[in-house]
Amino acid sequence: MLKKLFPTLSHLRSGVQILMLFVTVYGSVVVGHYAADKISNALPVLSCAYDMRSGGYCVLVPIQHQIHHRIGEAMVRAQQLTSQMVLPLLMTLLSFFVFFFIIGKAFCSWVCPLGTLQELIGRLGRRFGIHLRRLEGDDLGEAKRIRPVKWVLLLCLVFLLPLLAGLGVAPHSLGNPYCDICPSRVATTLLTGNTEQLALRRGGNISFALGAIANVLFGFTVVGALALRQPFCRICPMLAFNALFQRLSPLRLVKISRENCGKCRICSEACPMDIREISGEEGSKAFTEDCTLCGRCAEYCPQDGIIKMKWGPLSLFSSSRSYYRDKVRTELPDGSLKPIRFVRAVKSHD
Ligand code: SF4
Ligand code: SF4
Ligand code: SF4
Repeated sequence: MLKKLFPTLSHLRSGVQILMLFVTVYGSVVVGHYAADKISNALPVLSCAYDMRSGGYCVLVPIQHQIHHRIGEAMVRAQQLTSQMVLPLLMTLLSFFVFFFIIGKAFCSWVCPLGTLQELIGRLGRRFGIHLRRLEGDDLGEAKRIRPVKWVLLLCLVFLLPLLAGLGVAPHSLGNPYCDICPSRVATTLLTGNTEQLALRRGGNISFALGAIANVLFGFTVVGALALRQPFCRICPMLAFNALFQRLSPLRLVKISRENCGKCRICSEACPMDIREISGEEGSKAFTEDCTLCGRCAEYCPQDGIIKMKWGPLSLFSSSRSYYRDKVRTELPDGSLKPIRFVRAVKSHD
């Protein structure tokens, strides 16, 4: 019977075409409009959606619709995301890099107001004969054990909590947590005669607690700096942030290997961050995450050319016996103002 109706493949195809013409043009008349809508709205044929009796319609309809409404709108939202979030962040990082490229971590020891204040207070301590406390301890060194604190503060207070507050997971009062506890905020505003930042805030328990922490840190920094060099710098998240990019600035400390180096350890003694590696290590290992590029180690190294401050290929400063001799006439490695015995020069064996 079928063979009589469709003796050839062409006949069969024509029959199917007629049937499908009926389904695509009038299909909903048979199965009902709602059922037809469910057959398919993504047919690979030009079954028209404008035909209200159609049994289904072609895939180009939802594609255009989705590109128009979903993807287009998503791209607008992405553009908003780019202009509201990515671009400001990129601009911030770009400005940071432009500055950071020039003198890198030396911003700490040459520019930071809190760093300078701590150093001035330390000098006052030496002037009044307050005993200098060093973070040395056992072989590992206390200074080394404190190092992770600044990374935890950077991660939690600068990145994580502000993000959680932005997402609405953490309270709004935790949106700016590092600024809320920063002792530099208190110190620098006090220098302008403004005492407002010392006052504890009444905006809830969290604001109150953050304000209290800021005051404790400020007190710890000011009093601690009398006996311990750069106390806040050791836990400062800014130092951790700078350390992330320290290899991107051409300004760096270079230490070459010399016989007998590591015995006098005057460089570590002069280092305001109590960095032991500067006397014990060589090459890039001597330049640790805690280094603020102050250059004191190079100033106080009594050996010619062992420690150098370099900007790219340019040597900006190099340790030398003669510089050391002049320097210790006025200031000892620990910052006190007394003469000391000269360290005997050691012959180099390059
Ligand atoms: S470590 Fe922090 S407080 Fe210390 S100088 Fe650098 S930025 Fe300033
Ligand atoms: S002061 Fe100079 S010679 Fe002495 S340990 Fe440090 S780098 Fe070596
Ligand atoms: S290692 Fe040298 S340059 Fe770095 S903080 Fe210590 S003394 Fe300053």
